[in-house]
Amino acid sequence: MNELTVYHFMPDKLNLYSDIGNIIALRQRAKMRDIKLNVVDINETEGVTFDQCDIFFIGGGSDREQALATKELSKIKTTLKEVIEDGMPGLTICGGYQFLGSKYITPDGTELEGLNILDFYTESQKDRLTGDIVIESDTFGTIVGFENHGGRTYHPYGTLGNVTHGYGNNDEDAKEGIHYKNLLGTYLHGPILPKNHEVTDYLLEKACERKGIPFTPKQVNNTEEEAAKQVIVNRVTQK
Ligand code: GLN
Repeated sequence: MNELTVYHFMPDKLNLYSDIGNIIALRQRAKMRDIKLNVVDINETEGVTFDQCDIFFIGGGSDREQALATKELSKIKTTLKEVIEDGMPGLTICGGYQFLGSKYITPDGTELEGLNILDFYTESQKDRLTGDIVIESDTFGTIVGFENHGGRTYHPYGTLGNVTHGYGNNDEDAKEGIHYKNLLGTYLHGPILPKNHEVTDYLLEKACERKGIPFTPKQVNNTEEEAAKQVIVNRVTQK
């Protein structure tokens, strides 16, 4: 049986609003393709290499937990940047997304250093951007989720798509997340993957491509995933 391995970074600190559900969705969608998904939890990064890793995942957390997690992740930031540049698929959520940039400015003006892997920053405000969110994406179609963040992120890179309901990266440009090579960063909790099988399959397919294993069949039954997505779409459009 073919296998893929996910490195799940800092699950002890970054697991807001059931971010762990993303791992469950990856495992389930891999199983539909007869691929076994191994998950390695990494809370201490000293000496970690990505030799066995096919996909990496970093969840979200409060400002405090984010700062602690970033300190730990900074030990491997050079390697993490290299694998991202090399096209390793990865998913980072909210706090995990914010800290890929150069800095995070808290609502009281304190500057917390980011991993500086990509050239962007996040500035937080006291009023939070919260609620259901719907995005239209050229790559993934309709994406739904739940957001709750004080941070406003600004960057020049590709995004997941245009926000039709909710906020996304900030409360100005109606764009959500980041899409750089095969790295996805997003404010969507909820968790994002169970309701958005296109995103889950994207990560798995890119991992299979890199590893040289098949990702078939292309057609699987998505009835339940589509129904879950529709609940959110209906909720925001009926408001
Ligand atoms: N601390 C960050 C913010 O509020 C991230 C929160 C989160 O991960 N949900 O912007």
